[in-house]
Amino acid sequence: MVKKKQQKGGTKQKGKKVPKGTKQRQCRICRARRGIIHRYGLHICRRCFREQAESMGFKKY
Ligand SMILES: [Zn+2]
Repeated sequence: MVKKKQQKGGTKQKGKKVPKGTKQRQCRICRARRGIIHRYGLHICRRCFREQAESMGFKKY
């Protein structure tokens, strides 16, 4: 006997397409998903950017 679990449309789906895996765009440091800066391939949020900016050579404006 082989039990096949085929459930389409689970209770976790709410209509939005949520990408699975590690390709979620979020801050590499604090893993926040708000205010992510993709410039220069940083992929970090604004708050962490300010902290990293000095060590990375960016000057404050
Ligand atoms: Zn961050």
